[in-house]
Amino acid sequence: MIAKDTQSGKPEQEEISSRGADLRADKLYVLWSIATRRHLSDEERIQAILEESCRVLGVEVALVGELADGRYLVRHAFDEEGRFSAGMEMPLASTPCQCVVERGASVFLPDMPSDPVVNLLPAVTLLKLRVYAGTPIWVGTQVWGVLAFAGGKAMEEDRTQENLAFIELIASWIGSFMLQSRQRDNLEKLALTDALTSLPNRRAAEARLKEEISHARRHGEAFILGLIDLDHFKLINDRYGHAVGDEVLIGFASALTSFLRTEDWVARWGGEEFIVCLHTSDARQAEIILDRLREEIRQQAFVTSVGDIHLTMSVGVSRYDPDVSTQDTILADLDNTLYEAKASGRDRIVTGRKGRGILHTATLLKTAAGENRILAAYQTIHELKSLAPVADEALARLQTPQGEIITATDFIEAAEGLGLMAEIDSIVASLTMQRCAGSLASGAATPSFAHFINLSSQFLARRDLVETLLNNAQDYCLRCGIEMGPVKPVVFEITERQAIQNLDTLEQDLKVLLDFGFRLALDDFGSGYSSFLYLARLPISYLKIEGWMVQNMQSNRKVLDLVKSLVAFSRNQEIITIAECVEDAATIDQLREVGVDWAQGYYFSRPSLN
Ligand code: GH3
Ligand code: MG
Ligand code: MG
Repeated sequence: MIAKDTQSGKPEQEEISSRGADLRADKLYVLWSIATRRHLSDEERIQAILEESCRVLGVEVALVGELADGRYLVRHAFDEEGRFSAGMEMPLASTPCQCVVERGASVFLPDMPSDPVVNLLPAVTLLKLRVYAGTPIWVGTQVWGVLAFAGGKAMEEDRTQENLAFIELIASWIGSFMLQSRQRDNLEKLALTDALTSLPNRRAAEARLKEEISHARRHGEAFILGLIDLDHFKLINDRYGHAVGDEVLIGFASALTSFLRTEDWVARWGGEEFIVCLHTSDARQAEIILDRLREEIRQQAFVTSVGDIHLTMSVGVSRYDPDVSTQDTILADLDNTLYEAKASGRDRIVTGRKGRGILHTATLLKTAAGENRILAAYQTIHELKSLAPVADEALARLQTPQGEIITATDFIEAAEGLGLMAEIDSIVASLTMQRCAGSLASGAATPSFAHFINLSSQFLARRDLVETLLNNAQDYCLRCGIEMGPVKPVVFEITERQAIQNLDTLEQDLKVLLDFGFRLALDDFGSGYSSFLYLARLPISYLKIEGWMVQNMQSNRKVLDLVKSLVAFSRNQEIITIAECVEDAATIDQLREVGVDWAQGYYFSRPSLN
């Protein structure tokens, strides 16, 4: 075995060049000709070097192999007889490259069958290789792999030094090539990775999306994209600071990654928005998957330095259809569906098809107030004993620019989501009080006829709007010219829809209205929104029994008993009970029997704009 002088570190440059002085021109020419071939890719260039080197060295096999965990992984191979190829791997100890690694230097084995160290290796016994020359490939400051040449015929021994110099030159060239490509990879990775979450960043996602689209086009396959936005994330930043917000984002990103299947991918789209790509063409299935994720996130506690934090997410979903979609349409669709998910209440998923309605409504709503397209419809409320009308309820309506009327159920959610409820309530209240003053002044109604107006907690929280309402009320009272006493003919209906509501603040918010002489009705009682707590804490004058209970009272004994006890309780408390959604005479009979005071519903009248 001939080895280059053992060295502990990387060979010095001078040494290579001193040996390089022996290099014959034909060998240098090989390197030069390949290095200057411009059209070659990096891969092709290495391949060409290996092939040409074999020719000038007079051997059949050339390998570039990486060392990892005691194995020799062939990355590039040239073998005239096809025994070795890129991708093969073998235990390092079963190859002569082991000698190179042990010595940390070039090794020349002119006659392996007679060399006691390597004569039993498969390269010798099975492949009948006789001569071997190998040298470490340094990448940066570490040995990355081994460049090996081998052949069945002896090499010219008098050229040993020259040949070793030649392969060291090639190894150093391959090493610097590897270093460059590793640095390039690292830079590329850095440029495509989000530093906070380690997820692919937006640039990476856009590139990936382009690939997905061209794949989808080629194969006529659809795929699904989801745009996730964390709900009320600003609150976390505001309350605990940006650093804690970052912790949550990191936790969320890792939950997202572990949830998705390996064939799907996710990226940070920006801020607290993430984009997911699901390889399914079935929007329904994608919705089920994403809904499971939504539920999982909702249940999960994100552990942070200030304790557990819970959050919810909204998702817009869109299907890429290779026949009709483009990158622009699918991204616009995602934006719209996410917007709709937010507008319709958050913590939900909206897919392209379903969402359009709400988006349309949201657009209508945004301009409605300024264009006087928020209207009030009135539905009468009747005393059950006499069936005479004793009150009415104002219900918000949205008019489209084309004159079409949209009922409250179809836009309330969007209005709440967009934060427009307060403004709508304020308009409806003002319209109703104006109408009330008008009918009092004209003598069409008496002060005992009550007008019910719905107020959201969004409205009550707006001191400016509450104040305007009181000022208006005073004006109208003066204008109608009727002495009314402490109780005014306006009743505000409240219901608890928002999850977190502070009753103390609500009492405070309501106080000014009650002091003025307005009264309170508890709306939707029995729907699960209005709680007994409200009934116990607030000075309620009317209790509105929710429609489902009214309609099921006859068929369901338990419901009937519930209504009975509500009536008994209300009697004791001098609260007037009002049944909602009364549609037939049989219900009227039963309500009378139970002792409910008033009722409203289609049986009496439909809401009317006049
Ligand atoms: P919504 O439910 O409407 O989405 O409410 P939101 O509070 O989440 O509102 P929005 O999406 O508009 O705001 C996102 C917030 O996320 C604003 C921004 O300060 C915060 N944010 C964006 N990037 C980061 C980040 O890298 N770290 C932290 N801590 N916060 C971020
Ligand atoms: Mg956002
Ligand atoms: Mg958000």
